[in-house]
Amino acid sequence: MSIDHQHTGADQALRQRADGLDAQDPLAHYRDHFIGTDTPLSYLDGNSLGRPLKRTADDIAAFIRDEWGGRLIRGWDEKWLGLPQAIGDQLGRAVLGAAPGQTIIADSTTVVLYKLIRAALAAVADPDRNELVLDTENFPTDRYLVEGIALEEGLTLRWIETDPAAGVTVEQVRAATGPRTAVVLLSQIAYRSGHLADLAGITKAVHDAGALVVWDLCHSAGSVEINLDGADVDFAAGCTYKYLNGGPGSPAFAYVNQRHLASLNQPIWGWMGRKDAFDMAAGYEPAPGIRGFLSGTPAIFGMLAMQGTLDLIEEASMAAIRTKSEMLTAFAVEVFDAWLAPLGARLASPRKPGERGSHITVDHPDFTKATVEDLWDGDVIPDFRAPHGIRVGLSPLSTSFGEVLQGMAAIRDRLQG
Ligand SMILES: *Cc1c(COP(=O)(O)O)cnc(C)c1O
Repeated sequence: MSIDHQHTGADQALRQRADGLDAQDPLAHYRDHFIGTDTPLSYLDGNSLGRPLKRTADDIAAFIRDEWGGRLIRGWDEKWLGLPQAIGDQLGRAVLGAAPGQTIIADSTTVVLYKLIRAALAAVADPDRNELVLDTENFPTDRYLVEGIALEEGLTLRWIETDPAAGVTVEQVRAATGPRTAVVLLSQIAYRSGHLADLAGITKAVHDAGALVVWDLCHSAGSVEINLDGADVDFAAGCTYKYLNGGPGSPAFAYVNQRHLASLNQPIWGWMGRKDAFDMAAGYEPAPGIRGFLSGTPAIFGMLAMQGTLDLIEEASMAAIRTKSEMLTAFAVEVFDAWLAPLGARLASPRKPGERGSHITVDHPDFTKATVEDLWDGDVIPDFRAPHGIRVGLSPLSTSFGEVLQGMAAIRDRLQG
């Protein structure tokens, strides 16, 4: 361990805390399901790219050999055409709080969000509602998308100015919405600060203003408990390569509340979203239900790995995963207070565990991209967020408390020079 050379009593107490937390962690054994967790590396970026499961290597080999290699084109009819909805339903049940028939795996998050925002605008269909609302801390792709859609549709953007160390609040959304609002696009967890927005409260505020909401769940799917149906969310999208371990570039998911399915009008009319696709008939008519959200051929290969994580989540339960997530970030903050705050670092994340997702960001004027590259060279892998933030992401199923302590020790060593 890289902290063995630290001999102060306070450091030993933290080491014992980490060991004790790992020993009592009811989810600790899930770490063994992931490739690489038996190495000395400290991985603090599972919120950008989750680790692979060991079974994924076997699942993919079996798919190539038996399904693709063995069934060839027959695979589409036998299984693959149904996979985007089958996995979507499992994701809805295990992670999203969504009844079957409302969730589908497709495209990338960026493309899914584009389709959902346009579908939401089509559902509003009121020329007096010509404003799109979002916040300044939203993820870059969300901001760019909405800028582009505003140009396409002649709409006005209304920006909520969010504190970069916190996140968007119900009060801010109430103040920014009204009779001119068409659609509100927000992230449930802020990608920089980790702030957890009040999804139910904000959804209600948007509805009270007569508008529709699109939620980006990239940092929340698999890290916090979500109840899309319970909160009566209109539309949602998210990544599967972060806390769902789908692998680099695995396709996204889309959720459309069943209330909007009958009139779903998404802008990319492809053959896979058409009613009776294989009739190849003249003219576009959407397939009924969530299938009408599809455009082109689904990325079957890309959706294999996430199924392993969904199985683990169903077994472990999102409630237990959320509990561990809060304990992991609380421990990271405890170590931050002991080691990094005295060196002039600042916590750029909410202090209360219930107000954040599964990562924290630590700012220090001396942190640069080179600091993080140096950490990566030493097999401690957090993320850099300009101008001088180090983001520490903790994946509840694969991260140990010892791994957190080891990573924070390496960050302290860089600050001590
Ligand atoms: C990671 C992330 C994305 C990424 O979108 P892609 O289309 O998959 O590149 C979008 N939104 C948020 C909030 C993210 O964290």
